[in-house]
Amino acid sequence: MRPASGSIIPFPAALKKNMPANILNLPTYAVLAVEQNEHDYHVNVEVKQPPTRCPHCNSDHLVGFGRREQLVKDLPMHGKRVGMYVSTRRMQCRACSKTFSEALPDVDEKRAMTKRLVTWIGRQAIKRTFASIAEEVGIVESTVRSVFREYVNELEHHIRFETPRWMGIDEIHLIRPRGVITNIANNTIVELLPNRNKTTVERYFYGLEGRDRVQYVAMDMWRPYRDAAHAVLPDATIIVDKFHVVRMANDAVESARKATRENLTVKQRRALMHDRFVLLKRERDLTDQERLLMEGWTLNYPLLGEAYRLKEAFYGIYDSATADDAHDAFGDWYRSIPHGLHGHFEPLTKAFQNWMPEILNYFEHPITNAYTESLNNLIRVMNRLGRGYSFEALRAKILFAEGAFKRTNSRPKFERRAKQRLKDEMMGYGVPGNEMDLADVQIIEKPAKAPREKTGSTSAPKNYGVDISTLARLIEEGEV
Ligand SMILES: [Zn+2]
Repeated sequence: MRPASGSIIPFPAALKKNMPANILNLPTYAVLAVEQNEHDYHVNVEVKQPPTRCPHCNSDHLVGFGRREQLVKDLPMHGKRVGMYVSTRRMQCRACSKTFSEALPDVDEKRAMTKRLVTWIGRQAIKRTFASIAEEVGIVESTVRSVFREYVNELEHHIRFETPRWMGIDEIHLIRPRGVITNIANNTIVELLPNRNKTTVERYFYGLEGRDRVQYVAMDMWRPYRDAAHAVLPDATIIVDKFHVVRMANDAVESARKATRENLTVKQRRALMHDRFVLLKRERDLTDQERLLMEGWTLNYPLLGEAYRLKEAFYGIYDSATADDAHDAFGDWYRSIPHGLHGHFEPLTKAFQNWMPEILNYFEHPITNAYTESLNNLIRVMNRLGRGYSFEALRAKILFAEGAFKRTNSRPKFERRAKQRLKDEMMGYGVPGNEMDLADVQIIEKPAKAPREKTGSTSAPKNYGVDISTLARLIEEGEV
């Protein structure tokens, strides 16, 4: 065991001038002595170059005026915390008689920390809990938090995501529901909003660069989203994804199923084994055995059979070729709802009526996101690690994860794969042609060439946001 008091290792005077083994690797400082114990390094240093000019009058007529010791935290090293004890020179100017302390190079202006430590904490704070960083560096957690906030502010200035032309607004549950803004064409996240309020969404829309270029906003049926889009993105077409609508038909079947079961005996219920699983299946996917089961249930519980038929018929509305056809098909379908099922299907019929234009827009612009599965993966891993992080930290983790950005010209070595994947994605959308986005895809297919900026003002590569599946993988692997 090392004695707790530590041991002082003075450097020979001859080495001081040209310190080859500068333990700190900070060239602007001379290391005078190193002391260590089990947990910490205490490094005595001084600034290599004494001041030559008075900061008040710029005279070079300076004399020493004593020293004072300042403790500056530095990067942890060899698993130990590092404190630099700077023997700071006090000087007096002979010309103006004022005294001053020498400036400390490479030290943060606001904190008793080296700049490199501040940078390191910022990057670490995206990956780890504040508490673990505070412990490793030997500072308080609130300092980590404040460094993190500044770091994120800095990132916000440097990392700019392209405003999606096809924007998605989805929900992600991190402690409470949050709004996720996505780029549907690129399967990326471009923003995480603290809540789903209209004002929050509006403020985000207002801040978008080139918001008038947003063509489509795909959303679930959440009124504040629609209100915000109407107010701030009046030219964008709002689309309710098929997925959000048809799952309400499943909910209706589920409601009818539960109501049916309520009045049954235990024996009768047993005959309805696996009913939920079978009833939620699409008809074309039923096995012969399930088909037989279904026929039996329909005979005994006609309303259940009717609910199933209605659900399937509702899916059928989505086979309509045009919005007009879909509108008519919905009318026919609505009139076919038997009396006993109106209540169960009411949430769906109400939603359809309240969101008719947006739901029908889907038939003219069948934009659908291809990332639902990756987003669910992401939500799962985020929830697992979410404890101990603030919303700001989780947001930064999502938005500023190194290695998850989707850029047009960042993947030349994987050209063939990227090409294939993009084509698959494009086919997945089934979206009518869109000049701008097709142009973007063109650029990705030739990654060797730098993309030409339409604005012409900047040569920075485009950043389309955080690739959802890459991010989920990085978090899973503990890389973020
Ligand atoms: Zn002076």
